[in-house]
Amino acid sequence: LTSSPSGPGLHIIHIAAEMAPVAKVGGLGDVLSALSKALQKKGHLVEIVLPKYDCMQYESIQDLRVLDLVVESYFDGRLYNNKIWIGTVEGLPVYFIEPHHPAKFFWRGKTYGEPDDLKRFSFFSRAALELIHQAGKKPDIIHCHDWQTAFAPLYWDLYAPKGLNSARICFTCHNFEYQGTATASEIASCGLDIHHLNRPDRMQDNSSPDRINPVKGAIVFSNIVTTVSPTYAQEVRTSQGGQGLHATLNAHAQKFVGILNGIDTDSWNPATDSHLRFQYNADDLEGKAENKKALRKHLGLSFADSRKPLVGCITRLVPQKGVHLIRHAIYRALELGGQFVLLGSSPVPSIHREFEEIANKFQNHEHIRLILKYDEALSHSIYAASDMFIIPSIFEPCGLTQMIAMRYGAIPIVRKTGGLNDSVFDVDDDTIPVQLRNGFTFITPDEQGFNGAFDRAFNHYNSDSEGWQALIHKVMNIDFSWDTSASQYEELYQQSVSRARAARRAP
Ligand code: ADP
Repeated sequence: LTSSPSGPGLHIIHIAAEMAPVAKVGGLGDVLSALSKALQKKGHLVEIVLPKYDCMQYESIQDLRVLDLVVESYFDGRLYNNKIWIGTVEGLPVYFIEPHHPAKFFWRGKTYGEPDDLKRFSFFSRAALELIHQAGKKPDIIHCHDWQTAFAPLYWDLYAPKGLNSARICFTCHNFEYQGTATASEIASCGLDIHHLNRPDRMQDNSSPDRINPVKGAIVFSNIVTTVSPTYAQEVRTSQGGQGLHATLNAHAQKFVGILNGIDTDSWNPATDSHLRFQYNADDLEGKAENKKALRKHLGLSFADSRKPLVGCITRLVPQKGVHLIRHAIYRALELGGQFVLLGSSPVPSIHREFEEIANKFQNHEHIRLILKYDEALSHSIYAASDMFIIPSIFEPCGLTQMIAMRYGAIPIVRKTGGLNDSVFDVDDDTIPVQLRNGFTFITPDEQGFNGAFDRAFNHYNSDSEGWQALIHKVMNIDFSWDTSASQYEELYQQSVSRARAARRAP
């Protein structure tokens, strides 16, 4: 159970609420497994701690078994037992925590969206640290992600004296919109010293001083703070983009960086993708055309004209994603003579209803289809079938779908924000080196702004078939792997570990 790296690598433990494919809601799940795999490949010992959800994809876990170790963790004034499971996911060792708490925290049929999410994840964060401590692990890095595990750095005063002080804490915020703020009494359940933490320079929320903010606390108390693209890291340091945390991020700017996510190029590979009817690659696009035909048949769309452009969109339907522009794009695609396929699910009832109405309206339409659910397999088919792919986000910390789309030869049409600004460069922008130009971008988040990019994409597609083919070839060959980004994380970890070791040696 106690493991240490066999070579000179670091021992890194991620604590997170998601990991693809076992427990994925969005990009966080993808990042967890792909970053971990890339770090493991570089010779580090990488372990992951997740909640043991009832709704996990259990078939993706190998050798799942219960450990002969019961971890006790504190909550609401007493200790609770946690059953610890271990298994292998994508070649990575993963610990799953099953709390023996009467509220059955992870037995809810879903990952998030429960009224007691704060309790569920503050409980989990503490239990994860207990597991690391009670298993006698001495990691170099504990890496937490998003508000659900932002509690871990806040327990430092408690766990450093117990022996976890070998570790540096890295906190990555994948989206500053979600901060997990709560009242002091709600947060006190997990045993944090709220009196000590409820101060403007620690965990007190900047906008509502009667609330406590775990993400703010993690920024203050972690050794390294990252977010998921360089542009987003700049945006969140401004009052417009900081979701109330810009002052805190500016105060801790010396430890805060933006690193662009990569994608898992093994699971997102059109040449080997088992979800596809026809595999293909940049040099042989026949399979892409076959996949387009197959998807159109499968969804009951017209496939009479193989040249008719198919526009795809795969997203959580939340205001961040520019839902008004997604709705507009459906009608605009039709006006421009295209087809449109949306795969989306919404946790917001009013948005879900709105899109349900549109879906019903186009139920038997030959050019439009809306599929309002989460469907991993279908997502692969849509990336493969699409000629264009829209991401009109209001803000976008990194965004993975533009990279996946390009890997599958679908040309992205995006709003220039966050990670989209770091990965999509306009085909018609003369200020950008030609070799980097790979899609269509716009700035103003209204219909006119969107049309500016969308209409140009249709023009290019219709008027310059050869140029379009060359563009597909180019985007499919861009390196979106984690190699470069994982090296940046590695460097941050190494620097932080070296600083800590030097400080320990100093007299
Ligand atoms: P976010 O994390 O904000 O949801 P990202 O672009 O970072 O957005 O990641 C989204 C991930 O979730 C991608 O892998 C995308 O394919 C996937 N995804 C989003 N919605 C769906 C859906 N309805 N069905 C299947 N996959 C989806």
